[in-house]
Amino acid sequence: MSDTNLTAILKKQGDIQLEDIPIPEPGPGEVQLCMQHVGICGSDVHYWKHGAIGDFVVKAPMILGHEASGVVSKLGKGVTNLKVGDRVAIEPGVPCRLCSHCKHGRYNLCPDMKFCATPPIHGNLARYYVHAADFCFKLPDNMSTEEGALLEPLSVGVHACNRGGVTLGSKVLICGAGPIGLVNVLTAKANGAAVVCITDIDQSRLDMAKSMGATYTLKVTSKDPKEMAQKVEDVMGVQPEITIECSGATPSIQTAIYATKSGGCVVLVGLGQADITLPIVNASVREVDIRGIFRYVNCYPTALAMVASGKVDVKPLITHRFKLEDTLKAFETTFKGEGIKVMIECAKK
Ligand code: NAD
Ligand code: ZN
Repeated sequence: MSDTNLTAILKKQGDIQLEDIPIPEPGPGEVQLCMQHVGICGSDVHYWKHGAIGDFVVKAPMILGHEASGVVSKLGKGVTNLKVGDRVAIEPGVPCRLCSHCKHGRYNLCPDMKFCATPPIHGNLARYYVHAADFCFKLPDNMSTEEGALLEPLSVGVHACNRGGVTLGSKVLICGAGPIGLVNVLTAKANGAAVVCITDIDQSRLDMAKSMGATYTLKVTSKDPKEMAQKVEDVMGVQPEITIECSGATPSIQTAIYATKSGGCVVLVGLGQADITLPIVNASVREVDIRGIFRYVNCYPTALAMVASGKVDVKPLITHRFKLEDTLKAFETTFKGEGIKVMIECAKK
């Protein structure tokens, strides 16, 4: 453990600095965490390169990182669910717990959500960090803190598959084989999907998807969504009942609608252009439901159980590892699109 708090701060667009800042003290209901692992997400890189995502604009220096795990190093007043030394996965979004969304259990829709590394809220790519104790999940002995950090993207897969209704025997199409497409492959298979087909424009990502359990892979070679939808049916032998769109690319979202069986469901996970043209009459007259997802809700316990039980193996997602001191190199690697998940080790050995 260290007594300084090296922290990765996005000072402004394009400018990440490592600085020693004071070690934060936990308030009531909070725990101080000695950070272990933080995975880099596309959104972290986007804030670095572009300074904003939609309405979320980096107006003041912000600590990066939200796919994280740590070891409890201090308890705030009133914390009873954890003890010092517990290794935990950190669910990065803490809602108000009081509004109607929170009270209905859909806290991911809370308008007062405080989500790590979504401006103006600080993230946790640091040696030390303080978080709400009830959004920390104790890891069993058979799970590593790297796996704990990967519960964040895995939870996106859990929520997307829940929203799509993936269950025993489902025939599922997943569009886009980035980290999010891949966690959806893992989750769909763990839910008992009979067939999972995945698309991408990049063959190496498709190869990865195949090695992680996709039944079929399909390289996208045309921007014509009807043509691609037909190819999906040719490859799968049937139309998918559920399509989980994880690329955000407009032609892929259009393909998702055309490809899905009448009466089925398209889940929009990928976030691309704000306004696009969709074959909406086609979706309407074939009763293809279109459902959005926003992050995840009540999914961490499920994701944790999936990994702890051995139902899914998230470890192959990690293709690169860096130390906190080499954060910039880690971000450059992610930006170049090399590998899948870049993991940063935060604890000083
Ligand atoms: P990523 O960029 O690593 O992966 C996207 C993949 O889509 C890439 O492999 C790319 O080659 C592929 N692709 C591009 N065009 C395509 C096309 N026409 N057809 C098929 N594949 C195509 O990103 P990621 O980290 O895997 O995240 C995926 C998306 O999910 C992003 O848009 C991200 O913003 C979004 N996301 C949404 C939520 C949410 O709550 N809704 C949460 C996390 C991520
Ligand atoms: Zn709320």
